[in-house]
Amino acid sequence: MLVNIKKEATQETRNEFIKLMESKNQYCRIIDNSKILISGENIKQYINEIESAEIVDSTRIINSKYKLASKIAQRDNNIINVGDLKIGGDDLTIIAGPCAVESRQQLFDIAGELHEMGVKYLRGGIYKPRSSPYSFQGLKEKGLEIFADVKKEFGMKIVTEVVNPEKLQLVSEVADIIQIGSRNMQNYQILEECGKLSTPILLKRGMSATIEDFLLSAEYIMSNGNRNVILCERGIRTFDNFTRNTLDLNAVPAILQESHLPIIVDPSHGTGIRSFVEPMGLAGIACGAHGLIVEVHNKPEEALSDGMQSLTPKQFKKFFNKIQAVKNAI
Ligand code: PEP
Ligand code: MN
Repeated sequence: MLVNIKKEATQETRNEFIKLMESKNQYCRIIDNSKILISGENIKQYINEIESAEIVDSTRIINSKYKLASKIAQRDNNIINVGDLKIGGDDLTIIAGPCAVESRQQLFDIAGELHEMGVKYLRGGIYKPRSSPYSFQGLKEKGLEIFADVKKEFGMKIVTEVVNPEKLQLVSEVADIIQIGSRNMQNYQILEECGKLSTPILLKRGMSATIEDFLLSAEYIMSNGNRNVILCERGIRTFDNFTRNTLDLNAVPAILQESHLPIIVDPSHGTGIRSFVEPMGLAGIACGAHGLIVEVHNKPEEALSDGMQSLTPKQFKKFFNKIQAVKNAI
C-alpha cells in the first residue's frame, strides 16, 4: 500500500507511525518525505487503521509485485531529466557509440561523427563483462578519463556500464547515465547501491528474465530511493540461435501497459547481426519505445568487442534519419 503522508506531519509522528506498523510485522519503506510504502502478508487487516491514522492523507492499494514501478503508483510517464534533456516523453532518446572504449583516438573519432549528426548520447563500455575471461575486459578507469575529455569536447551525455558497486560513485562523476547490463540485472547488491544515487540508471533486461523479473529489478533501485530508471529491452535467450538473442519487442507494449518508466530498445545485442539492426530498431520505435541504444564503430572489423553487430557511422546516419520518420508515421 502506498501511503501519502500529510505535509504537516512531523518527523516524530512519522517515526511513531512506522514503529507501530513494524510492530504489526508490516514492512515500511520511506520513499520520500510524503510517501511510505507499506507491505506485509496480512496488510488487509490494517487498512482501516492506516487510513484513519492522524498523519495519513491518502492511500493507494497496489496489487502488483512491483509497487513503485507500477502504473498504479504513478499514472503519468516518469520523465527523466538528464541535464537539459528528457527521457520518457515525446522526444526520442537515441544513444549510440562503440560497444567498448578502446582508445582515445577511437572514441574521439566515433563521437565526432555522431555529434555532427546530432546524436546527444554517447555509449561505450569501460568495464566489459565478457563471457570469456580471455576477451578484452575494457580500459577501466583509463576509459573514464577519455570519456571526461570527450564530454568536454562535444558536450555529449555519457552512458556507460558499471559492474562493481564500488565503482558507482566514481563513474557517476563523469557518466550522465549508468548502465546496468544484462548479466547484472539480478545482482541485487549493485541494484541497491544504484538506488542510493540520483544518476539515471539504464537497466538492461536479463537474458533470461521475465518482464516481471525485469520490473522487480527496477523496483530494487526505486525502493532504495532512485526513481530515475530507464528500462532497456536487449533480447532474451530462446531455443533459436539464428540471431544472437531474440529481441522481445512484446516487452515494449507490456512495459508501457504495466509501468510509467521509459523503455528503450537495443537492436544491436537483440540481433547480433549488423544488417538486422536497422529493421529491428525501427520496429522498436514503431511499437512505442522511447528510444534506442545502438552500437556504432568506425572500424567494425577491428572492434575489440561486438564488431559483427556494430554499424559504421555512415550506416548509422542512414538509420538515424529514418527513426524520426517512423515515429512521426505512427
Ligand atoms: C553492452 O551494452 O555492450 C552490453 C554488454 O550489453 P548487455 O548487457 O545487454 O549484454
Ligand atoms: Mn556490446
